[in-house]
Amino acid sequence: MTLVTEIINTSIQVQNTRGIQDILTHAMTELGELAQEVQIAEGNSYKQAGPDSIVGEALDVIACMIDIIYVHYGVLANEEYLISLMKPKLEKWKEKAKQVQDMKNG
Ligand SMILES: [Mg+2]
Repeated sequence: MTLVTEIINTSIQVQNTRGIQDILTHAMTELGELAQEVQIAEGNSYKQAGPDSIVGEALDVIACMIDIIYVHYGVLANEEYLISLMKPKLEKWKEKAKQVQDMKNG
């Protein structure tokens, strides 16, 4: 099973009253936790890394993002469909990154 499908299956199992606003708010706290772990890892904080560290906090953010898609789209949120939406975005990302690198290289 892939990470996305694992998260969607958990989203399906978690039956409560959460809405996309609730998930977004929670995602922002998780993003803050991730930012703090990055600060620590970069030596820009006096704090100690938490048990989840960067990987764990990034996964928390990913879980929130997949959950918000599931709660908003319901059954349409399946791995295959999300990959079909994501592929052109990934191509665009690669192309833009290449353009920036080419520009930097002169
Ligand atoms: Mg967290």
